[in-house]
Amino acid sequence: MRLASERGELALLLKALAFAAHKHRDQRRKDPEASPYINHPIALADVLVNEGGVTDVEVLAAALLHDTVEDTATTHQELADAFGSRVARIVAEVTDDKSLPRAERKRAQIEHAGALSPEAKLVKLADKICNLRDVAERPPASWSLERRREYFDWAKQVVDRLRGAQARLEAAFDVAHQARP
Ligand code: NDP
Ligand code: ZN
Repeated sequence: MRLASERGELALLLKALAFAAHKHRDQRRKDPEASPYINHPIALADVLVNEGGVTDVEVLAAALLHDTVEDTATTHQELADAFGSRVARIVAEVTDDKSLPRAERKRAQIEHAGALSPEAKLVKLADKICNLRDVAERPPASWSLERRREYFDWAKQVVDRLRGAQARLEAAFDVAHQARP
């Protein structure tokens, strides 16, 4: 018999997965095959559990939800109501302000990385690991070699500002970064 708390954790996780799948249902990644968008949040959760040893279910739920506010019509309040204020806060911390021009958004990520909460640093690390693997293995078809290299360099600048957060994930990032084209 499972403990009620374990059932509650599984319920939160599956609710976050179903919510994210619904919100991203019409979106695709930028790889040449245009993979279903939801593969990416699932990859973050997989990395956190199976490479980072993360078991905090609210961090895993936040990873599944991490792009819903940035890339869909989802609001912070909607996440807070459905998943609680801690999950919503972690997602908010890793959400870019899309009203800023691209270059400022990129700079803001570097500037803010060190001040993220420990939970948001875990999600940020997993996001950068997954995106480097994507750029290395199935980059957007239109990306030049220079652009792929710039992406690797920028991701490293972000991660270098949050080092000390979690050794296993930082090591996984460094391995992913070795594939810089
Ligand atoms: P984009 O924001 O356009 O694309 C990168 C983002 O797209 C990722 O962070 C990821 O975000 C998402 N994504 C979806 N599918 C994929 C995939 N298959 N592979 C990788 N990422 C995917 O680009 P950036 O603004 O991040 O620019 C990348 C770099 O290129 C920067 O360093 C920028 O300065 C530079 N640049 C160069 C240009 C040039 O022409 N040379 C033009 C513009 C930028 P998420 O996890 O949120 O889904
Ligand atoms: Zn992401």
